[in-house]
Parts: sequence; C-alpha cells; structure tokens
Amino acid sequence: MESQVLQRRIDVLDHGYVLLTDSMGSDLSVVNAARVSYDKASQVFDVKDERLLAFLRRENHTAPFRHAIVSLECYAPLLVKNQWFKHLVGGVHHDDMEFPGIDPFFAWNESSRRYVTEEEQFYIPTEWRSKPENSKQGSGLPLSEATGAMFTADLATHTKKGLSMYKYAMKCGVAPEQARLFLPAYSLYVRWRWTTSLQGAMHFINLREHSTAQEEIRVYASAVKELVGQIFPKSIGE
Ligand SMILES: Cc1cc2nc3c(=O)[nH]c(=O)nc-3n(C[C@H](O)[C@H](O)[C@H](O)COP(=O)(O)OP(=O)(O)OC[C@H]3O[C@@H](n4cnc5c(N)ncnc54)[C@H](O)[C@@H]3O)c2cc1C
Repeated sequence: MESQVLQRRIDVLDHGYVLLTDSMGSDLSVVNAARVSYDKASQVFDVKDERLLAFLRRENHTAPFRHAIVSLECYAPLLVKNQWFKHLVGGVHHDDMEFPGIDPFFAWNESSRRYVTEEEQFYIPTEWRSKPENSKQGSGLPLSEATGAMFTADLATHTKKGLSMYKYAMKCGVAPEQARLFLPAYSLYVRWRWTTSLQGAMHFINLREHSTAQEEIRVYASAVKELVGQIFPKSIGE
C-alpha cells in the first residue's frame, strides 16, 4: 500500500458511519493474481497493469478481484442493513458484540439488541421524498419543507414513545429480547463488520450506488467506494 494517510471513517446520514478497519492487497495483487498462469508478477503498478486491470473489469474476469479483501465497520439504520445483508457472496457480515470471537468467515450477524444494550440511536430524516409515479422507483420528488418538518417531528415523537416503552418494559423485568419489540425497528441504528473480497465490494457499489437503489443505501455505497477506492484506486475507478 502507498504511504498515504488513509481516511478511515466517513460519516453517513444523521448518526451513521463506515469505518475502514482492515485490508489486504492492492491493485497490484489483482493483476498479479491474473498473471500467475504466465508465472509473471509486476513489482510496481504501471501502464501495462492498468490495461490488464481494465480488460479484467470489462470482460468480467472476476476471480483476480477476489485476492484482495477489505474489512469495514458499518453503523446504519436497520432498513439499510437489511438491504446490505442481501450481499452474501464473497463476504461476511459480522458483529463481534453479539458473538465475540466467532470466526468472521463462518458467520454473519448484526447487533440484535438481544444481549447488548448499547445506546439506542435512530435515523430521523429531515427531508422526505414523495411516493414515485413509477412503482419501480423507490421514491419521487422531495416533499415540501413544511410537510417534511411535520413528518420529522412525528417520527421523533413516535421514536421517543417506543424508546420509553422499551425502557419501561426492561425496568419491569421483561427480557431484552422481547422488550426490543417496542423499538421502532426500521430506523434503529445497528453496527456490524463487513469483510468482503474486492469483487464483493465492487458488486455492492455497482448495485447500491445506482440511481434505482434507495437513497439511504446509496450514500453508504458512496462512502464504501471512497474508502475502498483509496486502497484499490484502479480497480474501483471513478
Ligand atoms: C435496486 C435494488 C432493488 C432491490 N429490490 C429487492 C426486493 O424488492 N426484494 C428483495 O428480496 N431483494 C431486492 N434487492 C436485492 C437483490 O435481489 C440482491 O439480493 C442484492 O442486490 C444482492 O445482489 P446479488 O444477489 O447479486 O449478491 P450476492 O448474493 O452477493 O451474489 C453475488 C453474485 O454471485 C453470483 N451468485 C450468487 N449466488 C449464486 C448461485 N447460487 N449460483 C451462481 N452464482 C451465484 C451472482 O452472479 C451474483 O450476482 C434489490 C437490489 C437492488 C440493487
């Protein structure tokens, strides 16, 4: 890896973030994995490597991109997490708070609040989008500021009520695994670790940064692209 100072964390939405925790390999690992059949390897990434990388991407030769790995810690509302966890192949979603010590290559988990009672955090947007004309689009034009402000206030009230019922249930001795039923789930922030191959990250970025993806996950995909692009600039591209 070049000796540049990496940006480790990008804040997303009102309380979320993506944190680059670890990585293995570089753009050079990708081209050298492709060249192994010729028993050749480059020491420094040059114009020939750039051409080979472009060819691999264009022709969907994906295996070389699986010789590089990134690990990210993500903190996102459950609605984003649910979409993210659909990306199954070549990566694992891991929460070391729920199952400490479990091998991340054999399990994926989220912080379910069954055992953990870290501070509750909720996504409360300040801008609201309209119902789309085409049902295949997630949402349409932004609603007016006044309407948005009304729904922001409503959601804040709803969240506060759910949270206080949750706390009350626990105070009365209800098990956390049941008390959590009171929490407004979709907006609740959850934390997890995602360890994925470079190919897995590229696939996620392609699908989730796209204009047809939900705005809330698109901003996470852009953060992933920026963080992963620091380590694999040629593979991730513009
Ligand atoms: C805009 C958008 C809207 C969506 N809407 C919905 C929705 O309404 N409901 C819903 O349930 N999901 C929805 N999804 C999720 C979508 O169906 C995918 O599950 C998600 O995008 C992950 O992509 P994937 O399956 O390609 O990823 P992965 O499961 O990580 O698979 C990666 C790639 O591996 C290959 N692969 C995976 N499994 C196999 C296999 N068994 N055999 C051979 N090759 C395999 C495929 O090439 C695949 O593309 C949506 C996704 C997007 C981007």
